[in-house]
Amino acid sequence: MDFTIPKELELLKNMTRDLVKKELEPVANDVEEQSKIPEHLVEKMKQLGYFGLTVPPEYGGSGLGLLGYSLVIEELAKTHIAFFLLISTNNSIGGKPIVSFGNEEQKKKYLPRLATGEWRTAFALTEPEAGSDAASIKTTAVRDGDHFVLNGTKHFITGGPYADVFIVVALTDKKLRARGGISCFIVEKGTPGFSVGRVHRAMGLAGSQQSDLIFKNCRVPASNLLGKEGQGFGVAMDALDHGRIVAGADALGAAEKLLELSVEFAKQRVTFGKPIAERQAIQWMLADMATEIYATKMMLYHAAWKADQGEDVAREAAMVKLYGTEMANRVADKALQIHGGIGYMKEYPVERMYRDLRVTRIWEGTSEIQRLVIAKELLKES
Ligand SMILES: Cc1cc2nc3c(=O)[nH]c(=O)nc-3n(C[C@H](O)[C@H](O)[C@H](O)COP(=O)(O)OP(=O)(O)OC[C@H]3O[C@@H](n4cnc5c(N)ncnc54)[C@H](O)[C@@H]3O)c2cc1C
Repeated sequence: MDFTIPKELELLKNMTRDLVKKELEPVANDVEEQSKIPEHLVEKMKQLGYFGLTVPPEYGGSGLGLLGYSLVIEELAKTHIAFFLLISTNNSIGGKPIVSFGNEEQKKKYLPRLATGEWRTAFALTEPEAGSDAASIKTTAVRDGDHFVLNGTKHFITGGPYADVFIVVALTDKKLRARGGISCFIVEKGTPGFSVGRVHRAMGLAGSQQSDLIFKNCRVPASNLLGKEGQGFGVAMDALDHGRIVAGADALGAAEKLLELSVEFAKQRVTFGKPIAERQAIQWMLADMATEIYATKMMLYHAAWKADQGEDVAREAAMVKLYGTEMANRVADKALQIHGGIGYMKEYPVERMYRDLRVTRIWEGTSEIQRLVIAKELLKES
């Protein structure tokens, strides 16, 4: 076994670490307070190619596999989550369906613009009455000549208010549903009959927005069907497998940062005449944090590497998402405990990271749903 990270990926990881340290982390508090990433940093990330990391080179991207992309996200996750969310849809659940299932015409039209960051994407599966049970969506797409007419409401869609291109999952056959009755469409902002509905107010995630999307007799050209008619559930699940590994990378990076902050703090905080780092109660928390981080890192790198070999990773992706995000929440809780009262205050990043990490156990499939996926795969095999 060779655990060495390829040189070019290591360089990319280091470049991201530098960017985070020198330019992104210093503005993290401003992003939180103003709920906005400074425009010059959005431009910088566009110029450095961060929007097209996973887009194939022939369409203007860097063509990174999941391992390379995960290494970048691990570093980016060490600062405000807004930076991860800024680039993650184009590189994962928004762009991946076009990379994997788009026809040549669709790839030529959309991917170069996603790679430069000129256009941003959103992935629209969830509905008010269909979250975990995604196959019970109600949004319909009915063929009418060379168009499909979409009707329905999507919900909690990250990037809804500002995305330019939406991957929309809809029912084309109510009887077949997930077994050939669901299709995916590329819907552009400004398509008549499509509008952004209410914008949600979230517990955290400053700098990004989630909203409803409303489709009222929205006519989408049939040429915007992504993949074959009826193949949409598979398209969505493929995107989610990718997204779940990336969610693990985000959780890993955030947990590593929380551990680093906790070690630093424990060494300098003195109580009863000694730094708290010298107390076994604190050392055990640090040791448990480090151990779980190490376990996640090994799972993540292995699953990402396996996906890059072209193997099916549905089970591993669910395991990485489940273990990684639950781990990061446990680490955030311990980090806050180690920091004591100051950990609860907004002056320290622990408070913000604790809140922002909470959603990682919910989005892209809750922890309960990951367990269902893992169990289903296990029982299928036996
Ligand atoms: C901040 C944020 C951003 C999001 N971004 C997007 C996005 O960009 N695109 C998108 O399509 N969606 C997005 N979502 C939606 C997200 O994927 C769903 O919220 C999630 O899948 C859960 O669905 P739900 O909220 O309807 O919960 P429900 O499905 O109603 O679940 C409620 C509870 O019941 C549990 N549960 C449900 N079924 C079972 C079962 N069979 N067995 C055991 N427990 C079960 C769940 O685990 C959960 O604890 C986002 C959500 C949030 C909060």
